[in-house]
Amino acid sequence: MKILLLEDNPTDADLVGRAIKNRWPNADLHLATTLSVARSLLKEEQPFDIALIDLNLPDGNGMDLLIELRTAYNNLPVIIFTSVGSEDIAIASLKAGANNYLPKRQGYQEIIPDQIEFTLNHTIENRKHIKVLYVEDHKADVELTKNHFGRYAPYIHLNVIASGELALSELPTNSGIESDYDVLLLDFQLPGINALEIIKEIRQVRKLLIPIVIVTGQGDENIAVEALKIGADDYVTKHNNYLIHLPTVLLNAYRRRELERQKQALKQSETKFRLLADYATEWEFWIDQKGTYIYNSPTCEKICGYTHEDFVKNNNLLVEIAHTDYREMLDNHFLRLEELIYKPIEFIIICLNGNEKWISHFCRPVYDDDGNYLGQRGVNKDITEQKRAETIQSVILNISNAVQTTPDIGEFMQFVHTELGRLVDVTNFFVALYNKKANTFNLPFYKDLQEDISEFPAGKTLTSLVFKKGVSLLLNAEDVIQLEKEEGIEQIGFESKIWLGVPLKIKGKVIGVIVVQSYTNPDAYTEKDKEVLEIISHQISISIERIRHEEDLVKALDKAQESDRLKSAFLANMSHEIRTPMNGILGFAELLKEPGLNSEEQQEYIDIIGKSGARMLNIINDIVTISKIESGTMDTYNSEININEQTEFVYNLLKLDAEKKGLNIIINNGVPDKESFINTDKEKFISILSNLVKNAIKYTDQGSIEFGYVLKKNSIPDSSFNLEFYIKDTGIGISKDRQEAIFERFIQAEIVDRMAREGAGLGLTISRAYVAMLGGTIWTESEEGKGSTFYFTIPYNSDYKQKIIIENDVSADTERHIKKLKILIAEDDEISKKLISKSVETYSKETLKVSTGKEAVEVFRNNPDIDLILMDIQMPDLNGYEATREIRQFNKEVIIIAQTAFGLSEDRDKTIEAGCNNYIKKPIIKNELLALIRNYFQ
Ligand code: ADP
Repeated sequence: MKILLLEDNPTDADLVGRAIKNRWPNADLHLATTLSVARSLLKEEQPFDIALIDLNLPDGNGMDLLIELRTAYNNLPVIIFTSVGSEDIAIASLKAGANNYLPKRQGYQEIIPDQIEFTLNHTIENRKHIKVLYVEDHKADVELTKNHFGRYAPYIHLNVIASGELALSELPTNSGIESDYDVLLLDFQLPGINALEIIKEIRQVRKLLIPIVIVTGQGDENIAVEALKIGADDYVTKHNNYLIHLPTVLLNAYRRRELERQKQALKQSETKFRLLADYATEWEFWIDQKGTYIYNSPTCEKICGYTHEDFVKNNNLLVEIAHTDYREMLDNHFLRLEELIYKPIEFIIICLNGNEKWISHFCRPVYDDDGNYLGQRGVNKDITEQKRAETIQSVILNISNAVQTTPDIGEFMQFVHTELGRLVDVTNFFVALYNKKANTFNLPFYKDLQEDISEFPAGKTLTSLVFKKGVSLLLNAEDVIQLEKEEGIEQIGFESKIWLGVPLKIKGKVIGVIVVQSYTNPDAYTEKDKEVLEIISHQISISIERIRHEEDLVKALDKAQESDRLKSAFLANMSHEIRTPMNGILGFAELLKEPGLNSEEQQEYIDIIGKSGARMLNIINDIVTISKIESGTMDTYNSEININEQTEFVYNLLKLDAEKKGLNIIINNGVPDKESFINTDKEKFISILSNLVKNAIKYTDQGSIEFGYVLKKNSIPDSSFNLEFYIKDTGIGISKDRQEAIFERFIQAEIVDRMAREGAGLGLTISRAYVAMLGGTIWTESEEGKGSTFYFTIPYNSDYKQKIIIENDVSADTERHIKKLKILIAEDDEISKKLISKSVETYSKETLKVSTGKEAVEVFRNNPDIDLILMDIQMPDLNGYEATREIRQFNKEVIIIAQTAFGLSEDRDKTIEAGCNNYIKKPIIKNELLALIRNYFQ
């Protein structure tokens, strides 16, 4: 800021300078102590922003400088320092064009920065100079006026012209041209064309707006009135001191005209505004203080269907067409109108055609200059689309958030239904997820006025069409009929008036369809609804995928946790189950060592040890089996077997055990032998059946056990048959609440009141897994204290039923009829060797024993009359597979039965592949081995 300070008093200058520098440290302050220095400073090229002028100076009066500035059209803002009490001088300086004055009171320097600021802020408007065209032929008057104005009204610039003709030539010829002058000052007595004619020309011909002030002689008031009538703005009479008033008169004329001009401009812009409002997309309205509508832009009708006239007739129309939910809010709004600080309010209106629209209403009260309330102006905006977009956004957001809190698809869909309801009519709504396996649509959510289904076959339904094409379909009743004809679409269920289906897609793959439909309103859905559903379907798809994924994870976790828990319980039980027989073995083995035992005692101890060993082996077998089932490495090996043969095998195997307990055991085969061939996993089948019969014996203390099977036609309409096995006992039975649990993996171990009978509780679990592998189901019917019947099914795939089977009477008696065999035992372990040879004693006429594969081949070569080779698989130098292969090179007839380590079913394939006829798992159970041998030598 460049500041001129004209001050001859050094103390004042210093204090003023300090105050300024204090406020504006960078101010460019120039000090002048005389008028002449000030004058020369003012000639500098860079203009000053403000001048602070003291009046009493060594070389003259500060006022002179002010007047020089103003006559030279210099607008430089000026503050005059006056002495205290000299108001006249202050006023004179203001009249001369000073912008402000400051009496030199004590400490006046302090307020100078504020005064500078105030002056600068307020001078802009005061800087306005007005140019006056002064028409006057009287030279003396001209001189007087000029002098007076020069001194007291320097902001008025006079251009003096001596005649009316010349004056007219200075003015524009029509209103379209901008005039150089702000006011016309017209002496009434002019030579040539007189003032009235000049005014007429200006107002009527040229239609100029320039303010006109008349100067008349005293007593010419009538003329003045005449002049005012035809368009003059004001007049002065040349009485004494009239010059004092003249500047004010000129200024007022000018200001009035300016005001007028501004009003005109305002009016124009108002018309413009009205025009704009008429074409605006917004519905503008004005309401007067009585609440009557004075204006509604035409958009009003476009938005709501009601016209301006409708609103004029009914002040309350807007409230009446508002949705009932919003009426109270609107009433309140209008009641408190005057006192409200306005912000837009939003509500729904029901348009004339019944459609709903969202409106944003904004209005302001209008007041006149005196603060009287004049009514209100405002605007109603149609924000339906915006609301819809907002709602879509929020629905999408809610749906995506819901995934975190909604545990399953059904519940999630319930939520989606509610959310979608904010956008479209979801009275009849379902979500169909495609099930590939069954070629059906599952409906995790179904809401319908007419029907209630949870699944339907994909077939040729509309849903299917959307699914296959992967595109949305919006169909009315006719479209559907057309599709029935063209695409063979079959509409299931109720016929809808309009049907809208949108595919659910994940990464371009369609997983299902969302359907909404209306049975009553053919206009219930539009293309827009289709678009909305399409936008939202994407989020729904993503969410479904996520929930499915999470469901899988939760299931996996549950399963992991459950099996963890159950395994701990199981292990605890297992350790008990293993310790018990182990106690038996170790304890009685110790007792056996004692001297002086009689043979009866010895036999008893040995029996106990044998039983305990068998029990432990069973447990170990079960554990191995279970872990194989658990790990999913258990395979099935199907072969053609004769069921009757197998049931009888089991019967023979366990008959003795039953009889030992004094139980009667009956077998009942439901199909003749020659039709009892099926293709199944023999080992698993035997395991299931023998386990159930063993349990029946175990849990029955008196009465009988009956088992067998019947042929049953399946209820599923594919005319297949099942063999339904039953094992019925008269034992202790099972309570209702345990009938399911006993099949559960390890569950038995948890049952506290478990009967104190030996068993690890794995038998039924294994049986159930096996039955499932064979394609059947297992269940029980039981009554506590009366007995149980266990059932299981396997498919009767009777391709082999025509085969004739050789009569095969497997009874205990056969043992005696079988021919005596020459047997070779190949086994490197001495104890096993002994055990086997002891076991087969009844069938053998001669037994040869070798310890390696090589020896086995050698011995057989030298003894081709050998009937049976019991071949251990794990032997030194040549293993069982290799030995068998070598033997098969020169002999295909001899029966070779392999002995394998327990549990490894895949060994079976290997043994058969190597050329063995069959195999038996170690440790070898005598009865099993004999039963196996009988199969080949009856
Ligand atoms: P285990 O017999 O080794 O305990 P299972 O899995 O074979 O294991 O049987 C589980 C449980 O089911 C048994 O502990 C027993 O309580 C019950 N159960 C099985 N079969 C019968 C039956 N025929 N009569 C009564 N209870 C039975």
